[in-house]
Amino acid sequence: MPMQKTTLTYPHVLIFPLPLQGAINSMLKLAELLSVSDINVTFLVTDHIHARLLNHTNVVSRFKKYSGFVLHSISDGLPEEHPRSGARYMEMFDSMKFNSKSLLKELLSCGRLERGGRGPVTCIIADGLMSFVCDVANELGISIFYTRTLSPCSLSVFFSLPKLIQAGELPFSTTGDDLDKPIKSVPGMENFLRGRDLPDFCRSDTISNPRIQLFKNENQENARAQGLILNSFDDLEGPVLDNIRASCPNIYTIGPLHTHLKMKLDGTSSYTTTSSNSLRKEDKSCMSWLDSQPYKSVIYVSFGSIATVTRDQLMEFWYGLVNSRCKFLWVIRPDSISGDGEIPAEVLEGTKERGYIVGWAPQEEVLAHQSVGGFLTHSGWNSTLESVVEGVPMICWPYFMDQQVNSRFVSEVWKLGLDMKDTCDRVIVEKMIKEVMIERKTEFIKSADRMAMLAKQSLSEGGSSCSNLERLVKDIKSTTGVVH
Ligand code: UDP
Repeated sequence: MPMQKTTLTYPHVLIFPLPLQGAINSMLKLAELLSVSDINVTFLVTDHIHARLLNHTNVVSRFKKYSGFVLHSISDGLPEEHPRSGARYMEMFDSMKFNSKSLLKELLSCGRLERGGRGPVTCIIADGLMSFVCDVANELGISIFYTRTLSPCSLSVFFSLPKLIQAGELPFSTTGDDLDKPIKSVPGMENFLRGRDLPDFCRSDTISNPRIQLFKNENQENARAQGLILNSFDDLEGPVLDNIRASCPNIYTIGPLHTHLKMKLDGTSSYTTTSSNSLRKEDKSCMSWLDSQPYKSVIYVSFGSIATVTRDQLMEFWYGLVNSRCKFLWVIRPDSISGDGEIPAEVLEGTKERGYIVGWAPQEEVLAHQSVGGFLTHSGWNSTLESVVEGVPMICWPYFMDQQVNSRFVSEVWKLGLDMKDTCDRVIVEKMIKEVMIERKTEFIKSADRMAMLAKQSLSEGGSSCSNLERLVKDIKSTTGVVH
């Protein structure tokens, strides 16, 4: 009998992340985790992000070893020089909604991505905020998984926005005592959530606020996909995940992604400590400065890639840092200071004695450094997870979106630090630094070490994130209809 020839086509995933540093960073980790699992990956970014990845990272050379990986870009519809940080980030989403849909459809239909024997795209992983991608996937009959690179605890709040509106808890006044009023309509958070812990856009006196409208339908939108991929782990988020599952039954908690990848590659020839996904030039000189500091003595200060501060706020932080008498490493991006933008000369001069300022740091390496004992953070989700994994206690100064929720969880639920939201006063900055770095140091380090251990357990063989990734890989492979 003649042998039957079967052609195995590999699954081919197109990953389309939000064009933001945190999302690009975590989705590149996912891209590599899928690449090592023999899945072809097209990583689609905007032209703006593409130029930065080529300029500041080793992504191209790093992924050369994965023959099925291709980096591709399309326009976000804005001119290159258009601002994309601070309050202007929403303009980018609006522009993408109108411009990127037809470009994506054309790309998926023209056969260009199939070259090199990679076959057609069998599955898309896109951020749940980009519903136009789901429309395209449905039109072309391609499976789609959503991912949200913000925290599940904040997603759970987004999912509850209709309940908050129905219960009359939204909108609320931002004057008087309303910010401290308990919020009762988010399942599992009745005992600790206040108005001020809701995402910043909830501080609006009308529910017709465009961002409330955008996020109000998250539960329906995310349920349109075959599954929802989350960068977190079960032991951290437990009850919160049940609330999300009520709308999206198929969730994959596979984080913390950066450590997941490290553990997968550890001991293999692909492992390298110099992988960077930074969209800005990293200043590594701070690592030798850290080398010369005592164990857990330095507070690392960074507000991520989007948040900005006024000149007055910068000065309050600076006086607070200097008056605490702790050593500090501070990231001040060229676009960190709103208004005139320059770092005041007195700050640069006065920092020499106790601190070190860089424009952009190799943050994962910084948080893993033995001399770092605390993190003054804007509570971005990637920064929070990076701190959790390294067992570094936090002082939270949230800026927007999920960060208001994250900081409440850090202080009240996980007990990993303090929440400084809605104040920016040198006396409070000094007091909180002393509390985390000196007075309550042992207490915070104990709970941070415990959470770091749980994170690593979830990534070990049989752990929840490890098993969920195996399930995700299996489900993606099944989108080809070929059994491997
Ligand atoms: N980051 C970095 N160097 C810096 C500041 C930030 O590499 O000096 C990285 C950080 O490790 C994290 C990302 O930028 O992965 C910021 O993402 P996050 O979600 O914390 O905040 P966002 O920038 O989205 O507000």
